[in-house]
Amino acid sequence: MMDTIVHDNCGVFGIFGNSRAAKLTYFGLYALQHRGQESAGIVTSDRGIIHMHKGMGEVSEVFADEKTLSRLSGNMAIGHTRYSTTGASSLINIQPFLITNRSRHLAIAHNGNLTNSLELRQKLDAKGSIFQTTSDTEVIVHLAARSRKRRRIDRICDALTTVKGAFSLTLLTEDSIVAARDSHGFHPLALGRFRKSWVVASETCAFDIIGARYVRDIEPGEVLEISAAGLRSHYPMKKTKHAFCIFEYIYFSRPDSIVFGENVDKIRRRLGRQLAIEHPVDADIVIGIPDSANTATLGFAEESGIRFEIGLIRNHYVGRTFIDPHQSIRDLDVKVKFNPVKGVLKGRKVVVVDDSIVRGTTSRKLVKLIREAGAKEVHVRISSPPIVSPCFYGIDMPTRKELIASHRSVAKIEKYLKADSLRYLSLEGMLSMASLPKTDFCASCFSGRYPIKPPAINGKHRLKPRQGLKA
Ligand code: AMP
Repeated sequence: MMDTIVHDNCGVFGIFGNSRAAKLTYFGLYALQHRGQESAGIVTSDRGIIHMHKGMGEVSEVFADEKTLSRLSGNMAIGHTRYSTTGASSLINIQPFLITNRSRHLAIAHNGNLTNSLELRQKLDAKGSIFQTTSDTEVIVHLAARSRKRRRIDRICDALTTVKGAFSLTLLTEDSIVAARDSHGFHPLALGRFRKSWVVASETCAFDIIGARYVRDIEPGEVLEISAAGLRSHYPMKKTKHAFCIFEYIYFSRPDSIVFGENVDKIRRRLGRQLAIEHPVDADIVIGIPDSANTATLGFAEESGIRFEIGLIRNHYVGRTFIDPHQSIRDLDVKVKFNPVKGVLKGRKVVVVDDSIVRGTTSRKLVKLIREAGAKEVHVRISSPPIVSPCFYGIDMPTRKELIASHRSVAKIEKYLKADSLRYLSLEGMLSMASLPKTDFCASCFSGRYPIKPPAINGKHRLKPRQGLKA
């Protein structure tokens, strides 16, 4: 039945106690847009009356006019931005999901992947549950609906003790919002204060945009109920080892966010510095692949003393409506996104810093572009180790086969990229750049060591393809 459960990178947001809840959620989602650009949605509760709007596209497209937002009345809201495949089948999977059971409503927005959703879904299906979507998230609301507990919060807790895997959630009932994080704490979820209201978001950059103050992280294993009675924490899940996703620091989170209690910017700079220490190179300039590698590149430049230059310009206006002229222009996909600055690159020995190599296609094309712009030498430095294993906890990665480093040595990848040299940051070096203990992180995409058994590691488990280029 369900061998193609949809997996997403996502951003979640929630607010309680503000008459402009939907509008503030809109801005919060806007700041979380980098976590998902395929679809967006907001659900509000206006004294028990639920309003919802969601659609395919970026936040500004889905909520293109004020009227849509003003219809979403109420003083509490949750929202979601999602990164997934396009196509009709995706429409049904746009979050938040809203269900009605015994005349009561429950909406949910999820960042992460559940690892036992397939089994749970089969069991629930056999018991008569009718699934509306192909998303793993839906099992949570079915489980909550089936719980024998009386209080709503206990039913949610019941569901969350049954599911396994990664979840940073915001949920909305008629009179409360709930924020929950799995006990490993894979993905971030932060609590903030906006005047007299409480806000919850995947990243703190969503607080900054509305002028909210970061208070603390939702703890791993915490289910935080926010209602007129104030905040109430529940800890229904068994305590376990932390497994904070290191890829949030490498690529996914914005550098202006505080994630797992630390400034992403600071960590990324340290990664760049460490990369320069581990793999020095004789070069005239250092350039970064914008935007995700910018901060690590600064760190590399600071440590190495090599001059930082802007050697690639990224076009930020690449939309999904881009017209492909029958592939008549070579390497068009990379060219629409990046253009080399010839005056900077010509005749120079260049270090190119990127945050990661996934399939290797982007780097290969960029090395070529940089050479064509006249660079004398191109040395590629990656501020993370080789990605050798897929992620099962919510970072959108291709299958193992498509991960170039899963089947090629660094020397072979260097050859494939046609780089003068290619070096990656070491696993040790990467993990020691955060203040938290190394053992608090999940680095399974780099190490192949999974904190929770993946659903099926034999290749049967289908992961959807990534976009291929930087988001
Ligand atoms: P490629 O090696 O061509 O598959 O793409 C590598 C580029 O994709 C790097 O420059 C990364 O910044 C970016 N990247 C890494 N992980 C992801 C991801 N999960 N989703 C989208 N882009 C990513």
